[in-house]
Amino acid sequence: MSHARYTLLVQPLTRLDESVVDVVYATLSRAFKNVEVYVAAEARLPPMEFFDWERLQYRSEYIVEWLAALREKLGFDIILGIGELDAYADGLNFVFGEAYPAGRAAAVYLRRLHPSFYGEDEDMGLFLERVSKEVLHELGHVFGLPHCSNRLCVMSFSNSIREVDIKTSKFCKRCASLLRKAGVILSPEYILDDEDIV
Ligand SMILES: [Zn+2]
Ligand SMILES: [Zn+2]
Repeated sequence: MSHARYTLLVQPLTRLDESVVDVVYATLSRAFKNVEVYVAAEARLPPMEFFDWERLQYRSEYIVEWLAALREKLGFDIILGIGELDAYADGLNFVFGEAYPAGRAAAVYLRRLHPSFYGEDEDMGLFLERVSKEVLHELGHVFGLPHCSNRLCVMSFSNSIREVDIKTSKFCKRCASLLRKAGVILSPEYILDDEDIV
């Protein structure tokens, strides 16, 4: 059985540390076997009209819509924006990321993934682990996955950094089979074992 191949553009929304680009590229190309990952060389800052000057945060829904239009223009199947930004969505004080499945677009915002944001010592290993979980989570949504009640599954909903740290960067068997039905081949190293249930 042959599977379609998807092209995915990782679009930096700000200047990014090289290690962030490397970990995002490595995570996505390892996890999703039939997704070809490209990284845009130039950052594209979202338009300042998307910035809420009262909250000092970007409005995430505008960013993902803008990314979907960019994806269409550039001719990729999927787009993932990622930047050192803080953003919020309706009804939420902030979001770590957001997916817009209809536009095959998602964004991940890094500001609140840094240990230093919470007054802790900066820890690059921990930060990058959070980054990989969030990019996998948002792409899971782009491929049609809902939130998952298994707290170890990468598709579990995270409303706090603690919940990000509790979950793993793997998909539970149920989410993995939903991905398969959506035509996405997951590498076995990104699938949780049955005993990993919380
Ligand atoms: Zn989610
Ligand atoms: Zn799951």
